[in-house]
Amino acid sequence: MLDADFFRRWMTVTAASVEREADRLTDLDSAIGDADHGSNLQRGFRAVAAVLEKEAPDTPGAVLTLAGRRLISTVGGASGPLYGTLLRRTGKALGEDAEVSEARFAEALRAGVDAVMALGGAAPGDKTMIDALLPAVDALGDGFAAARAAAEEGALATTPLQARKGRASYLGERSIGHQDPGATSAALLIAALGESAEADGE
Ligand SMILES: [Mg+2]
Repeated sequence: MLDADFFRRWMTVTAASVEREADRLTDLDSAIGDADHGSNLQRGFRAVAAVLEKEAPDTPGAVLTLAGRRLISTVGGASGPLYGTLLRRTGKALGEDAEVSEARFAEALRAGVDAVMALGGAAPGDKTMIDALLPAVDALGDGFAAARAAAEEGALATTPLQARKGRASYLGERSIGHQDPGATSAALLIAALGESAEADGE
């Protein structure tokens, strides 16, 4: 079962991962966007880690809804509302239980990804975060390692695609040949799940 501590770790591990990879995310975004993806997520997840420490929400749902709200309020551009919606909607779907099963989390995350698709209007293959998130959700029933592999594979598979959503879509065919920064950061978020589970009980 997954408790509030697990979800707090998920957010702090993601924050640490974003710190490590911020330059890479910004490099990817400088190729097909406006070079702010790393710094935007860095600011956002720093704020998430800080508010979770201060307010210490005590259910999985409360952790993720607070984290999502914080991302929306601290990150401009598209990534704040999209990641914020992902976490808020997932948190809302988890309800008020003190612990949730991995299967329940997988369902909730699917609701979160659906909400992101509704908000951003992106479908699979549009070269967005959805190309990492949707395969991850599909694989989550086989565990966190499977979800991570699916997300990383999905992010890599965005390279030959032409962007059809977001700023990169303005580039048309020139967006081909670059890995999508949003799919790359989404893979970091999913990879952090396994790391958070391993840290349990330490
Ligand atoms: Mg950008």
